[in-house]
Amino acid sequence: MASRSGSENSSGTSKLRCNCCAIAPINMSLTKWNLGRRFTGCRNYQWVDGSTCARGLDFANVVADRMVEQKDINSNLADEIQHLNHVKEELIVKVELLKKRKQMLKKQLEEARVKNKKLEEKLSHVEEIMRKFICLGIVIISVLVIICLKKENIANKQFRLPLVL
Ligand SMILES: [Zn+2]
Repeated sequence: MASRSGSENSSGTSKLRCNCCAIAPINMSLTKWNLGRRFTGCRNYQWVDGSTCARGLDFANVVADRMVEQKDINSNLADEIQHLNHVKEELIVKVELLKKRKQMLKKQLEEARVKNKKLEEKLSHVEEIMRKFICLGIVIISVLVIICLKKENIANKQFRLPLVL
């Protein structure tokens, strides 16, 4: 076992002088059979604490099993977080695409409105021209009818004259 000549350093990590004459950090074992037992973290690693008693080992086994379970749970959660991050990234891309599509549709709608306004103006102009043509047509037809009627009157008078004589 290493000698307990060291003390805690400023960062709170315990260190001590071990048999290889180095100032070694103190680590804690997480293996099932030495759970919680401290050792020097140098190349000639040595136990700082004595062997664990039988009751301590039983308890360490329970803790070690729980740690394995927790590790599995953590691993599953990490997978889920990774999956959710992936989904989030996909959704961000989709949102970006939808924003672009919305902008494009807005632009198309604006263009369609301008086109519609121009077509309405053209239609109104054409209707105005048609109204004028119809009015002109009515006037021409009326004048032609009047001329025809007058010609017929003159013709009838000329035709009747010899009969009266
Ligand atoms: Zn050492």
